[in-house]
Amino acid sequence: MQTVELITRKRDGGTFSTGEIAWLIEHYTQGSIPDYQMAALLMAIYLRGMDSRETSDLTLAMARSGVQLRVNTQVSPVIDKHSTGGVGDKVTLAVAPLVAACGVAVGKMTGRGLGHTGGTVDKLESVDGFHVELTRDEFMRILQEHQIVLAGQSSELAPADGKLYALRDVTGTIESIPLIASSIMSKKLAVGASHLLLDVKFGSGAFMKTIEQARQLAHAMVEIGRAAGLHTVAAITSMEQPLGRAIGNAIELREAIDILRGQGPADVSELCYHEAAELLMMTGKATDETAANQIVAQAIQSGAAVKKLAEVIAAQGGNPRQIEQPELLPTAPIKTMLKSPRGGYIATINAEGIGVASMHLGAGRFKKGDPIDHRTGLILQAKAGDHLAAGDPLIEIHARDEQEAHDIQSSLIACYQWSESPIQTQPLIHDIIRP
Ligand code: URA
Repeated sequence: MQTVELITRKRDGGTFSTGEIAWLIEHYTQGSIPDYQMAALLMAIYLRGMDSRETSDLTLAMARSGVQLRVNTQVSPVIDKHSTGGVGDKVTLAVAPLVAACGVAVGKMTGRGLGHTGGTVDKLESVDGFHVELTRDEFMRILQEHQIVLAGQSSELAPADGKLYALRDVTGTIESIPLIASSIMSKKLAVGASHLLLDVKFGSGAFMKTIEQARQLAHAMVEIGRAAGLHTVAAITSMEQPLGRAIGNAIELREAIDILRGQGPADVSELCYHEAAELLMMTGKATDETAANQIVAQAIQSGAAVKKLAEVIAAQGGNPRQIEQPELLPTAPIKTMLKSPRGGYIATINAEGIGVASMHLGAGRFKKGDPIDHRTGLILQAKAGDHLAAGDPLIEIHARDEQEAHDIQSSLIACYQWSESPIQTQPLIHDIIRP
C-alpha cells in the first residue's frame, strides 16, 4: 500500500477501508510511515472528516496498538468515567468513590492537567504518599480488593494515540471531531471497562466552545462505544463558569470530600450525584432514577462514600487521615480575600480566565512536565446569578507569596461580567446521550 495514495484519496473526499486504517496505524506506530506523511493525512482528515465506520475503525486500531488491559474479563461490571476537562472539575474525585461505595467497581486511568484545565491525578497527589504509577498486576489487585482503583494514564495503552496526539498538537489538527473522539475512546477501549460515562463539556472553560460541537463529539463517542461493545452514555454539561467553588489541587480535593459528605456546593454536588445515579442505572444496580438516587443518598448519609475515598487513597500508598481530616491537606501560606469592585448581579465568570489565573498561582502547568504547587488556587465566594454589594468577598486567593496573590487580581476581576438586573442561570446538565 502507498501512503501517498491514501493521503490523496482523503484529500479528495474519499474513504478508507477497515484494512487500510489498520495498516496506517500499525505502520505509523512501528515508525515505517514518517511524520510528514502522517501530518498531511491528519490535515486531510481534519478538512474532509471521517464517517462513523472509519472513526470506529481508527479507534479500534489505536486501541490495539499497545497493551489491552481487558479489565472487564476479571471484574464485571466495572465502570470508567471520563470528562473532556474543565475548570474546577473535581467530579471524578467524588463520583468514583461514590459509585464504588454503592457496590459498582470503578477501574480508571486518569491524566494530569495541562493548560487551564486541571487533572485528577494532580489533585489526588495532594495527599502525602499517594501514587498513581501502578503495574498492571497492582491495578488489578487493588481493583479486586477495593472495587476502586485510580491510576495514572499508562504510556503502554494506545501508544499510537500518544504519537498521533503529539503530531496533531504541532500541525493544527487537534480540533477535529473524529480525531478527538477516536483519541479519547482508544484509551478507554484499551482499559476495557464494561460501562463508560462521558462528561462532554462546552463553554468558555471547555475544549468544545459550543453546545453543538459538544453534542457532535458526544454522539461520535457514544457511537464508537456502541460499535465496540462498550456501553457508553454521554452527559453534555456546561463549563460556562467554573464548577463548584474551588479551583486548584488540594482545595479541589477538599471540595470533593465535602461533596461526598453531602456538604458540597449545590451545582457540582448535583452533577456528581446525577452522574453516580446514571452509572448505577447503566450497570443495572438500580432499576430506575428514584432507586438510583436513594442508593446514592444512602452512601452519602452513611459515610460510606467518603470512607471509600480514604480506602483507595490508603490502597495506593496515601495517608487516609488527610481524607478523614481534610484540614491536614497542604495549604498555601498566603490567603487573601479579593473584594468585589462593584455591586450587582454576576452575569458570567469566564472559566478559562479563572483557570489561567490559577495556573499563574502555580496550581497548573504552562507546559507538559512543569511542576505544580498542590497548595495554591482560588475559592469563588459567589457564582453567576448571585447578587453582591461593592466590597463583598469575591474570591479567596491561595498563593505562595503576597506578590503572586497581588499580581493576578486585575486578571481575576476581568473574568467577571455584571448585570443590574437578576440573571437566569442555565442548568449544568443540558442533555444525556444514550446508545
Ligand atoms: N483529549 C484526548 O485524549 N484526545 C484529544 O484528541 C483531545 C482531548
